[in-house]
Amino acid sequence: MKIIRAEHLGMCFGVRDAIALALETAKQEPLTILGDLVHNEIVLAELRAKGIRIEQQPAEANTRTVMITAHGASERKLRETRSRGLNVLEATCPLVHVAHRSLAKLMGEGFHPVIIGQRDHVEVRGMTGDLAAFDVVLSEAEVMNLKVQPRFGVVSQTTQPIDKVRQLVRLLRERFPQSEVRFIDTVCQPTKQRQSAAVELAQKCDVVVVIGGAHSNNTQELVKTSLRFCRRVYHVQTAADLREEWFHNANTVGITAGTSTPDAGINEVELWFKTIAVPAAAQTNRTKEKHELAFHPA
Ligand code: SF4
Repeated sequence: MKIIRAEHLGMCFGVRDAIALALETAKQEPLTILGDLVHNEIVLAELRAKGIRIEQQPAEANTRTVMITAHGASERKLRETRSRGLNVLEATCPLVHVAHRSLAKLMGEGFHPVIIGQRDHVEVRGMTGDLAAFDVVLSEAEVMNLKVQPRFGVVSQTTQPIDKVRQLVRLLRERFPQSEVRFIDTVCQPTKQRQSAAVELAQKCDVVVVIGGAHSNNTQELVKTSLRFCRRVYHVQTAADLREEWFHNANTVGITAGTSTPDAGINEVELWFKTIAVPAAAQTNRTKEKHELAFHPA
């Protein structure tokens, strides 16, 4: 069985920098991270093991220094946090700052803000937390239900697939032909690279394994993208989730991983394939269809 890694996979620079900042700070003083630094339980467990606290709200923090995650936060949330006398450390990814600035620019020019993304995602809440009026859309139905505006200014959550974002912008233009629609592409480069590498990988593999946290948006998007080009796609959090029967009759298996998946997790999955005895020639057809399109409940 041939194992291929996607050309681009795994942890992005934004997440790596945020983890490094947390670890460095925790060496000097007690630290609370507000929210999940990354949507990956393994990484969070490692941070907790180093004594770093993870709480959802500033009121729950019992350290003087708190850290905002790579997903960013609204100015209002930052102000509220500082008003509690807390020292706020920002690990907001620079590419999330780009999305915030792009939205502010569009609004400054009189456009009604529309964000393509998940309404309840922490990054989107950070983008909308200071706004009085805005729309968040993620489906064609939501675009069709928007109220008419003379000018729509559109940005996207950084981890949405660019094809899907462009499709929704096209639909918005068709739906409101009299309105001016200006779109600033804020999907981050690491997401674009991982998405296009996943397409390339899925096209040449019998099975694709996507490694990442159960709640990681970009990991879930990699699963969806891979399923467009490969019928057998499995989402796992760690090598322990892998099952031998998924790979019967598979000659080529592809591995990809979300932007919050640590290198060690990817290496473990690759190592797992070296230790299983599933020679392609000895495989049978018995499980061929049964396991197709399965999505492991990671
Ligand atoms: S996924 Fe993109 S925006 Fe988010 S932390 Fe990584 S590089 Fe930054």
